[in-house]
This record gives sequence, structure tokens and C-alpha cells, in this order.
Amino acid sequence: MTRFGAVEAGGTKFVCGVGTGPDDLVTTTIPTTIPEETLERVAAFFNGQSVGAIGIGSFGPVDLNPSSAKYGYITSTPKDGWRDTDLVGAVKRALGVPVALDTDVNAAALGEARWGAAKGTRNCIYMTVGTGVGGGAIVEGSLAHGTAHPEMGHMRLPHDFEADPFPGCCPFHRDCLEGLASGFAIQQRWGVAGDALPLDHAAWRLESRYLALAVANLACVLSPEVVILGGGVMMKDGLLGRITSEVSELLNGYIALPSIVMPALGARSGVLGALALAARLTCLNG
Ligand code: ZN
Repeated sequence: MTRFGAVEAGGTKFVCGVGTGPDDLVTTTIPTTIPEETLERVAAFFNGQSVGAIGIGSFGPVDLNPSSAKYGYITSTPKDGWRDTDLVGAVKRALGVPVALDTDVNAAALGEARWGAAKGTRNCIYMTVGTGVGGGAIVEGSLAHGTAHPEMGHMRLPHDFEADPFPGCCPFHRDCLEGLASGFAIQQRWGVAGDALPLDHAAWRLESRYLALAVANLACVLSPEVVILGGGVMMKDGLLGRITSEVSELLNGYIALPSIVMPALGARSGVLGALALAARLTCLNG
């Protein structure tokens, strides 16, 4: 069976893997430093391994338009040193195999659709709620891209300033979803990290409200069968159940409630999704 390579490219670490699926995947973790050093270490991991293609799920924004001069680049990221980094080109030049790229969250959606919580569905959403908030979607079996790629973390939500005077912390929009509900927002609003706050703290009432509003919006726009909520903030015991009941109240029986679940692949949704991107690339090519 052909083995594939996978890279989950994150702002703090790159997870690289080689294998064929969840039961056959060897991974290594490389800290994200400057692009040259990080990508050299990625190439060194794959060097000498026989892989049919490599898939990359990356933090972004990334240029996914194949006809663009900057296809395969990380573009306007605020991350130091990574702006305009030719991710696909660097890996291709170093290893000489086909390389597929998508966003980290689209890759995670693909991984969960192939092997995890959205297996057997044609419409699913993967949203991660961590330091930031991001989301990817599969619509009628295809990863959603549009002019760039979805940026679900920056959707606007109703913000009741009486219930939540925190102005929001997104540098672009202040009180978008990420500005109100990311792990960074929780930290900024309360002065402590979310995992230090018990479930009966007001922080979690706001958090479940904002995430439920986001999921309800996504359910109305994309009609997903499954919405997968991952990321560090979602590790809070009891939060998923609260979000699900609030989404149900918000939709009020008008449309069917999507199945709202945690990632079945745990922390491996992204790297397995990158593997699925690679496997799909060779299927498409031949
Ligand atoms: Zn924003």
C-alpha cells in the first residue's frame, strides 16, 4: 500500500507523519521557529522515506488558488518571519514529490470525514476553538474554498454589551467570534486562562452562548450533518452539552439540529487530514 506524508503546520509546532491511516502513522513534532530552519527539519524527516505525495494542512492565511503566482504560500500572517513563505515550493523542491495544501481546519475536516466523527457524511464542519478560532467545511463532498478559504472564526455575532462589556480582542474586527470566544479572549476578559475557571463561572455562560450562535449560523448557511468542535477550549468538561442545548434553542425546531460532537481523531485530526490530502492528490492525478 502506498504510504503518504503529512504535515500539520501550526504556529507553535509542525507535526509530520508518514503512513497510510490512523492505524499506521508515525509522527514527529518539530517546534516552529523561523521558516528556513523549520522547513529544513521537515525535509530531513521525510528524506529517505518513500512517500507517494505529501499533504500539508497549514495555519494561514494561505494562497490556495492554483493559478496564482503565490499558490502554496502562507501570505499575510501576523506570525513573525512567516509572511510570504513558499511552503509548497520549499517541500516540493526538497523532496521532489507532489504536494497538496489546504488550511489546517479544512484538513482536519477532511481527516474527520475520512476516518473520524464525520465518516460517511458529505457535509460537515470542523471548528477549532483554541488560542484562535478557525473553521473548515466539506460541502457536498468537496472542501469549501471560495476566493481564498473560509474564515469562520471572524463571523460577526450579536454582542450584548450589558451581559459582556469586554470589547473583543480581534485586531481586525474586535468583537467577531474569535475576538469574543477564543482562548485568548477568555484570558483577556477574565485575566486567567479558561482552564482555571470552573464550569459554573460566568465565562462559560458567555462561551457557550457565542459558540452556539456560531454553530447555529453555520447550520443555517451550510446545512451540515455534523459539526465537530475541537481545540483546547473545547476540552472543558460540560461545555459541548451546553452548546448543543443552546443551538437547539436557537434553531427552535426550524431545521434539524446537526450532530455536534468532539473530534473522533482527537489531536490527530489535522495530521491525518493532511495525510488524506496527500492520498486524494494521487487519486486525482491517476
Ligand atoms: Zn476577527
